Amino acid sequence: MSTAILEKFLIDYVEAKEGEAELVDAGTYTILYGSEPTMKTVTFEIEAAKENHQIELFLPGSIFFDAIVKDATARGCVGATWLSGFQVVTKIIQSEAMKTFSFVEHEKDGVKKREPKMSSFQPYNVKVVTFAFKVRMTTDIIEDHLYIVSIDARTSKILKNFMEYLSKFQHLPQFEEDIPDYHLQDFSRCYQIAIDSVRQKLTGLIVRKKQEAADLKNKEAERMKKYYDTLNAELEEALEKKAEDREAVANIQAKQKAMLVQRQSALSDIEFRYRMGASMSLVSVLVTNYPCYIAKVSVPSSIQTLEYDIIWNPLFKRFEPLVCPTCKNHSYAMNFLRSGIRCQNCFT
Ligand SMILES: [Zn+2]
Repeated sequence: MSTAILEKFLIDYVEAKEGEAELVDAGTYTILYGSEPTMKTVTFEIEAAKENHQIELFLPGSIFFDAIVKDATARGCVGATWLSGFQVVTKIIQSEAMKTFSFVEHEKDGVKKREPKMSSFQPYNVKVVTFAFKVRMTTDIIEDHLYIVSIDARTSKILKNFMEYLSKFQHLPQFEEDIPDYHLQDFSRCYQIAIDSVRQKLTGLIVRKKQEAADLKNKEAERMKKYYDTLNAELEEALEKKAEDREAVANIQAKQKAMLVQRQSALSDIEFRYRMGASMSLVSVLVTNYPCYIAKVSVPSSIQTLEYDIIWNPLFKRFEPLVCPTCKNHSYAMNFLRSGIRCQNCFT
């Protein structure tokens, strides 16, 4: 196993903690990190660790490695992957595009097909950001739920079941060639959308859990009240029997008082035990990069020239539909009319 990825992880981690990592020997680093700076020498070489006991081994299974992974996970960590292995023949996409999209002009003397001018398809890097959130629900027990949301960083749309696609393709530590990024949204916007979507999903769960907790609490409280009512009834009975005996009466009354206090504390105990809490934390972020193939298209007509980017998405193996300038819906067919450009939907 090459340790290059682990070495990069160690350096990234130390830098993220505003520390410093210095290579002292092949595979051996001196690191300085933490708010109360700690100096350590760590190595990826088993032999180096065996020779010098001052040097700690930094490999999966070693104490320090596990500690760092735990810390990084607790802070929410970002991983990146580049998908590869798409077999794209741009000439084929080009001819497919001609068949998929249609542009039609409506004139007085009839309907005419407009031939688009299309540049060749070029790869552009598109990012999908996948956030994993842990949601902890606390009632009388603790329940952890994991929520995963993938956001297309270009459109800010949520991609359902995106993780399923990841296993189908090859992964690289980075793209083999430089591919320019395509229209990226702000990262924090993606994060906000992910949080909002989880919150929305949580609303139902929280209502259900609250109800469950309330039902359990009421049941328990009823049981407790019944128990103390029975006790009290017994004491009342004893009071009647011993009405003549002053000392016994005082004794029973003291018992009743103590029992009342006990009852109150037992009930507030139950109230506390079933109090519901929910918290959400970010566990990890995965940035997936993959190329989309994009051609610039211009469609001339006597009304106006339409300019579009046509996008072939190799992940989903389809062209993305165009956005209708009139109704903003998605469509593969555009109509040129005196009144403007309309998709098939808002045209009929
Ligand atoms: Zn439309």
